[in-house]
Amino acid sequence: MNSDENDTSLDPRDWAALRRAAHGLLDQALDHAQTARAGRVWTPMPAAMKAGFCAGLPGAPSPPEWVAEQLASLMPYGVGNTHPRFFGWVHGAGSPGNMLAEITAAAMNANLGGRDHGAAQVERQVIDWCREMMGFPESSGGLVTTGTSMATIIALKVARDRALDWTSRAEGLGAAPLVGYASEQSHACIARAFDLLGLGSDALRRVPVNADFTMNIAALRDVIDADRRAGLRPFLVVGTAGTVNTGAIDDLTALVRIARRDGLWLHVDGAFGASLMLSDSLRGRLAGLEKADSLAFDFHKWMQVNYAAGCVLVRDAQAQLRSFSDRPDYLARGGRGLAAGGPWPVDFGPELSREFAALRIWAHFLEHGTGRLARVVEANCAQAAWLGAQVEADSQMQLLAPVALNIVCFRMMPTECADPDRLNDEIVVQLQESGVAAPSTTRLNGMLAIRVNLTNHRTRQSDLETLLSACRETAQRLVATGRY
Ligand SMILES: *Cc1c(COP(=O)(O)O)cnc(C)c1O
Repeated sequence: MNSDENDTSLDPRDWAALRRAAHGLLDQALDHAQTARAGRVWTPMPAAMKAGFCAGLPGAPSPPEWVAEQLASLMPYGVGNTHPRFFGWVHGAGSPGNMLAEITAAAMNANLGGRDHGAAQVERQVIDWCREMMGFPESSGGLVTTGTSMATIIALKVARDRALDWTSRAEGLGAAPLVGYASEQSHACIARAFDLLGLGSDALRRVPVNADFTMNIAALRDVIDADRRAGLRPFLVVGTAGTVNTGAIDDLTALVRIARRDGLWLHVDGAFGASLMLSDSLRGRLAGLEKADSLAFDFHKWMQVNYAAGCVLVRDAQAQLRSFSDRPDYLARGGRGLAAGGPWPVDFGPELSREFAALRIWAHFLEHGTGRLARVVEANCAQAAWLGAQVEADSQMQLLAPVALNIVCFRMMPTECADPDRLNDEIVVQLQESGVAAPSTTRLNGMLAIRVNLTNHRTRQSDLETLLSACRETAQRLVATGRY
């Protein structure tokens, strides 16, 4: 019906203007990445700018130059994770080269739910690489996910369904008394998956940890046996390869043994820790991981792929298909045309339409290779060890957990300090607000810790020296007020 005068196309009226806006924005984006080390770590958005986000729904169009200006104005107000002195939580810094993949993905506008197209080949290649990297067999299934949270939901659904011989897909859980196990230090996404999967978060037993924050294996055996005696059905044990609080790595070999003895599904949460598999010198720390029934990990953390990109691997691809495919003929291959090339991603997970995150991962590995990514992991571990040693050598500081990996938890303990929890909490807030550095906090054995996570390819030892002197100065200044 559209005549040329009544064109509904969203293509630019003026391609030259879009081209200029795009090239200009790309230069600004590259400048932003190139100066990632300069300036403040975290810059809160000014109130006047925040107020601009209370505007109503736009009815009329705007020119691309103006839209590009709006986009560029946002760049300074990230959380700070691209800066080398961002030490909070577990954030990756990303890599500027990812912009090339983002541009290509935007041009293709691919939907990764299924069908036979070039983008699907890229995801297959990425999953093959994941199997190779993690020591999983060719027969394992996998899917690129938004992150470890989604990867965990997918893996635990397969574990749940297998335990109930897949009757759960149609009939629900009934009164099946399924229970699973993870350490007290496991990530909240495990309990959340139990909640979402209808198991209830109480069905996740939180196993006590040793002094080094790894799961206490004897305690695990005891609680499994007690649950069995009580008529419950243990079906799953989750090992954490790198806990979010301290970087502790559970004894995965022991967990493999227990899972085999008790017929449990072994899932490994390797959100950032699985990145050790890239490194010839660190891989040995994860012995047993390659024997897990499923593994969840992130590309967007220690592997430095831009957000959001994670992965789930399931040793038995057929089990994963039985848990997610709606097509009884999912195994039927062949066929021609666009509908060929199954099984599709939609047969391995809950989402139909999916973004092309695999492209960022693929291009990232092409650009850097595993070697360069492994060096980042190794450097961050060496930095954490160095920082831990500095803390131990300082009588005014106290290390609150062994440095197992890339995370250092400590507190400032000036002699005159009456309330270390309040003092250290205030130090972290002041560091963040000053823009000098951005560690976060956690609680360990009831004590508030300054938590320094190192998963950033830009961080150097001099950044840690800056952090240490800022901690010392702030502690002194605060204690001198007599209020801490
Ligand atoms: C970050 C993290 C998660 C959650 O991963 P997302 O990618 O943020 O969903 C799970 N487990 C551990 C150990 C983590 O560090």
